[in-house]
Amino acid sequence: MEHSTPAATLGVVGGGQLGRMMGEAAGPLGVELVVSDPTPDCPAAPVVRDQIVGDFDDYDAIRELAERVDVLTFEIELADPDEMERVSEETDTPVHPTPDTLRTIQDKLVQNRALDDAGIPLPEYRQVDDAEDLLAAGDELGWPLMLKAREGGYDGRGNLPVEGPDDVEDALAAVGGAALAEEMVDFERELAVMGVRGDDEVRAYPVTETIQEEEILREMACPARTDTSVRSRAREVAFDVLDMLEGRGVYGIEMFETRDGEILVNEIAPRPHNSGHWTIEGASTSQFEQHVRAVLGWPLGAAERRGPTVTTNILGDVDEPEIASLSGTESVLEAHGAALHWYGKREVRPLRKMGHVTLVDDEASDCETLLSRARALRDELTFE
Ligand code: ATP
Ligand code: MG
Repeated sequence: MEHSTPAATLGVVGGGQLGRMMGEAAGPLGVELVVSDPTPDCPAAPVVRDQIVGDFDDYDAIRELAERVDVLTFEIELADPDEMERVSEETDTPVHPTPDTLRTIQDKLVQNRALDDAGIPLPEYRQVDDAEDLLAAGDELGWPLMLKAREGGYDGRGNLPVEGPDDVEDALAAVGGAALAEEMVDFERELAVMGVRGDDEVRAYPVTETIQEEEILREMACPARTDTSVRSRAREVAFDVLDMLEGRGVYGIEMFETRDGEILVNEIAPRPHNSGHWTIEGASTSQFEQHVRAVLGWPLGAAERRGPTVTTNILGDVDEPEIASLSGTESVLEAHGAALHWYGKREVRPLRKMGHVTLVDDEASDCETLLSRARALRDELTFE
C-alpha cells in the first residue's frame, strides 16, 4: 500500500472525547480527521483538521464531510445510519462499521435479537410496549427486572430497575416509549473486551474489568481480576460477536460474569469505548489508533498489554451545571506512570465524563494496588 502525506483523511460523525482521542492517535500516522458535531468547538476540534457544525442526522453536514474524506466513520451511536448510507452511495465513500451494523446496535431489542440469532449468550429479555407486556415479563423473568429504553440510552440513562408490579406504570412513564425488559443479572463482576475487525483479520484486547456504580462506568482494570478460564471464555464470546458484525472498526463488547462463572453479553458499542481507554498507555496499539487503522483498511496493530493498567474516569462532582475548572491535578501530574486525559468540555454537569486518569505499571504490581493508587489520585480531583 502506497502512503503519501497526509496518508488519508478520515471523516468522523461526532466530535466528543472519543473523536478527540481518535484525532490524537491519528496524528502520528499522518492521518487527518474532519469531524461533524452540533456543538461549536466540540472536544475534538483542537486536534482535528476541521469541524463541520451540524447535527448527527444533518444530511448537508454529513454530505460535506463525505466529500472531504476517504472513509467515513462515527464515534457516537446517535449518528444517523440512513443519512450515512445515502451519502456513502452518492459520494462513493465507504462507511465503517456499516450503517446496517449501527442500525442493529442502536435498538437494544434488535441488538439482543441479533445476538440471540448468532447463538451468543445474553440475559433473558422481552419486548415491552405497554404495562401488560411488562407485567408478563415480570412473571416470566422474575422481579426485579431491568427496563431499558430501546433507543438513545447512554451512561445508564434510559435504564431503570423495576422492583415489582406496583412500579410498572411509573417505570414505563420514566423510560418513555418502546422498551425491553431484561432479567436482573446477579453478576460477580462486569467485563469488557475491545475487539477489532480489520480488512481480513480480527483481534481482541485482553479482558478488562469494568467497575460501575449507579450504572455509570467509574473504573477499569486490565487484566480483569478473575479466573483465567473466565477470561478465555470472555475472549471466545467476543470473537463470536465480532464474527456476526459487519464492517471494519473497533467494537466494545460489554459482558457480565455471572456468579457461576458464565459469560453473558450485555451490549455492543460499534466504536472505541470507555472501557478501552486504558489501551492508550497500556497496550501496544491504542483502541483509537486501531480504529483508524481498521476503518482505513490498513494492517492492524498489536493488541497486547504492556503491563497491568487501570483507568479511573473523572466525572462531574457538581450538583448543577457550571463552567468546568478542575483542581487537584498536581498529584496526578507528579505520579509515576500516571497519565491525565482532559476532554476539553467547557461545562461540567453532574456525573458528566470530563476526563480520565490511567496508571500503567511496568514493575508488575497487581491491579488491586494500582486501583487503590488511582482512586487516591482521583479523589483529590474536584470541580467544586
Ligand atoms: P453505557 O454506560 O455503556 O452507555 P447504557 O446506558 O447503554 O450503558 P447498559 O450498558 O445497558 O446501559 O447498562 C448500564 C449498566 O447497568 C450496566 O453496566 C450494568 O451495571 C447495569 N445493567 C444493565 N443491564 C443489566 C441487567 N440485565 N442486569 C443487571 N444489571 C444490568
Ligand atoms: Mg453499557
